[in-house]
Amino acid sequence: MNASFQLGRIWGIPIGLHWSLLVVFALLTSSLSARYSPEQYPDLSPGASLLLAVVTSVLFFVSILLHELGHTWVALRNNIPVEGITLFALGGVARIGEQAKTAGAEFRIAAGGPVVSLVLAAAFAVIWFLVRGVTFLAAPCLWLAGTNLALLLFNLLPGYPLDGGRLLRAAVWHFTGSERKGLRVAAIGGQLVAFGLMGLGAFWILSGDFVSGLWLIFVGWFLQNTAVAEQAGSTLQAQLSGTTVAQAMVMEIEPRVPSRLKLRQLVDDVALPSGQRYFLVIDGDEPRGLVTLRDLAKVPRERWDWASVGEVMVPWAQLQRVAPETELLTALRLMDDARIGQLPVVQNDRAIGLLTREEILHYLRLRAEVGLSGRP
Ligand SMILES: [Zn+2]
Repeated sequence: MNASFQLGRIWGIPIGLHWSLLVVFALLTSSLSARYSPEQYPDLSPGASLLLAVVTSVLFFVSILLHELGHTWVALRNNIPVEGITLFALGGVARIGEQAKTAGAEFRIAAGGPVVSLVLAAAFAVIWFLVRGVTFLAAPCLWLAGTNLALLLFNLLPGYPLDGGRLLRAAVWHFTGSERKGLRVAAIGGQLVAFGLMGLGAFWILSGDFVSGLWLIFVGWFLQNTAVAEQAGSTLQAQLSGTTVAQAMVMEIEPRVPSRLKLRQLVDDVALPSGQRYFLVIDGDEPRGLVTLRDLAKVPRERWDWASVGEVMVPWAQLQRVAPETELLTALRLMDDARIGQLPVVQNDRAIGLLTREEILHYLRLRAEVGLSGRP
């Protein structure tokens, strides 16, 4: 879930909004303003009624943000980076940069959000108690207390990717000593929760509550998709942890090309015969850069006879590089962030190899074939 707007940073972590949240904000505000209308509360003017609805909606989303900050705070205290927090139609997501290294850390990070929701529910209940004489203030406080409590209970459902699923995963991991078993149990829980929600949604639709039923089906479908994606990510992470670039890179960086080579020659004499799509540009012993067929495609064909590789390559100084002892996962993340398919591997300023997505896939397949990686 990528943010559409950036709100700012808290503890250095970017906080963003996805556009879908604005739709839900409008729907929620309009439903709340009907609830806190001047007809129900004669002390309220129409303007005050709308203001109350807006403030209540904002406090609702602030509650979700605080829940995510709860996860974030614990993650940071456990030295686990958080890449960002995004609020969207179905709640919030804190993008935790790495998997927790111990079951205890995983448990504490998962618990951080629900603890905040519990505190918020209690705080709004206390405020409700204090202002209960002023009916138009008491009503939104009670709603916020109830909604935070509902958020807490929903998040504690024992299935991935909900907090309850993460707690379950950490507990199974702790008691069996196997991270993979924890993941498997939490994933099954996630399927049950997702299909349970969709089934309940279908039942609601049949009983006439069309909008709530459809919403529930949508939430179930979203959880199902997220669970599958996260599981794939965790599997990859489990398979790659402890693996270095040196194990997956190609050592012989052939064919290498000189920077003065014309693009036409590159295509006819090198690219077509070798079937390769990227080439290290090296003059003598000096690495100059990297040229890919994608760089080539940006140049009009009629210029291929004149333009040289040196003119279209990405120069050495601008290239992202990795060392052979870099963790493969770190290198993969670097490729993702820069949207590139290959990284030169450098030792003592010399290019000693190339890491490509194809090679990583090849390496993973090989490991799977010799039985080094089971399914989670
Ligand atoms: Zn949470």
